[in-house]
Amino acid sequence: MASKLMEQREDKFFADVLNYFEKAAKFVDMPEGILDQIKFCNSVYRIKYPIKTKDGFKVIEAYRVEHSHHKLPTKGGIRYSEHVNQDEVMALAALMTYKCAIVDVPFGGAKGGIKINPKDFSEDEMERITRRYTSELIKKNFIGPAIDVPAPDYGSGEREMAWIVDTYTTFNPTELNAAGCVTGKPISQGGISGRREATGLGVFYGVREALNHAEDAKKWGLKPGIKDKTVVVQGMGNVGYHTAKFFYEGGAKIIALAEYEGAIYNPKGLDPDAVLAYRQKNKTLLGFPGATDLKSTGEALELECDILIPAALENQIHSQNAKNIKAKIIGEAANGPVTPEAEVVLLKKGIYIIPDIYLNAGGVTVSYFEWLKNMSHVRFGRMTKRFDENMNHSLMESIESLTGKKFTKQQHTDLERGAEERDLVYSGLEETMINAYHQIREILHNTEGVNDLRTAAFVCAIRKVAVSYENLGIFP
Ligand code: NAD
Repeated sequence: MASKLMEQREDKFFADVLNYFEKAAKFVDMPEGILDQIKFCNSVYRIKYPIKTKDGFKVIEAYRVEHSHHKLPTKGGIRYSEHVNQDEVMALAALMTYKCAIVDVPFGGAKGGIKINPKDFSEDEMERITRRYTSELIKKNFIGPAIDVPAPDYGSGEREMAWIVDTYTTFNPTELNAAGCVTGKPISQGGISGRREATGLGVFYGVREALNHAEDAKKWGLKPGIKDKTVVVQGMGNVGYHTAKFFYEGGAKIIALAEYEGAIYNPKGLDPDAVLAYRQKNKTLLGFPGATDLKSTGEALELECDILIPAALENQIHSQNAKNIKAKIIGEAANGPVTPEAEVVLLKKGIYIIPDIYLNAGGVTVSYFEWLKNMSHVRFGRMTKRFDENMNHSLMESIESLTGKKFTKQQHTDLERGAEERDLVYSGLEETMINAYHQIREILHNTEGVNDLRTAAFVCAIRKVAVSYENLGIFP
């Protein structure tokens, strides 16, 4: 069903993004020329190249789209999926521009796509596909730490990013900042602690912040905070698994988890780690002990719950199932999981949609931190950790001698600790997600005619991008 819908909606995703843009642009006081410059994609690169597989030569179709050059480098993941098409990559590149603007990441938006099902290829073939894709990007100047910096997306991860950085470095041996040509790398290749879980953690921080506003929570019929909220997550990949894990650790109850083979449901709650381990062992999450199997991933989306997190692909909540959605909040962890037609229905039902262009920006935020680390050639915390620990120790000793009371050993350990790279990444991400939420909520509450958070987020993004074009003096 989902893939049929996806085919029908081919060539529509970018139009959807344009419609969101138009709806929001009415609230942005900027010359039309600037708005026109922002909304379309600046550069679209379509590539076809052959690779040798065990079954003979195969032609690979791939893309890289740079949507906006108002800030450089441009930034955006590479999707490996058989559904990749130019329209989808353009839409996702545009969303990246707005996403970066909302969370104040100083990059333009871009996206890449390779039209393959990774499951059809061996590791060796995947490596050749990825390395050749990288060389094609190098040939046309579509990659580089100052030009365009890819990252993981659906179907790709640290392994692919390691191949990309290695290929780029081989072609550019004297480039001092070569490691910054891609983010989401393994730590050993210049990656950063916390990137792997960043998108899921950002989703958690974003939904938690929404629920921290007691008056808003009351409107949705909920108590403030995450504790005891019932949550359904679709997709147990990078984003879905980590989102589920942070909600679980935050005290929420994960009542259902869905994958493409079906879904499992347990009103008492599921432990995402146990489910993931079970799925890795059994190649399915169906049959998980203590849970009820649901026939399809779609059934899970329609469950009664407080928070629904679609974290798989676009177009999962559409005109046909929107009326059946019973969640109070939808947190768009995936890109484009709710179609515009569905959104109209959901908003009428009073469901609060936290949009993708804000909510899944944790990945690009931490990618930005990784890029900064690559530019500065030093691990975050390396210069300060020991100094902070010594200062904290002296402070605690002074308090002890002044008060005559002793801290416990555990208190010493907890309070003296200097920040590791991961601590700094988490706190930088938390600060970013909270600030950005306040900005878009402010627009929602204080702009007449803006009635939903997606429009507010687009208004926020367009204003910021427009201002930087204005400041560039392109449109005197
Ligand atoms: P992933 O490949 O790691 O995981 C996706 C998971 O969804 C897979 O386990 C897949 O089997 C499952 N899935 C596919 N179709 C499904 C269906 N119909 N029902 C249920 N499950 C299904 O990908 P990811 O990196 O987690 O990305 C997921 C979404 O989040 C995408 O929309 C992506 O663009 C978006 N996103 C990812 C990042 C990131 O940092 N990885 C950042 C921002 C946004």
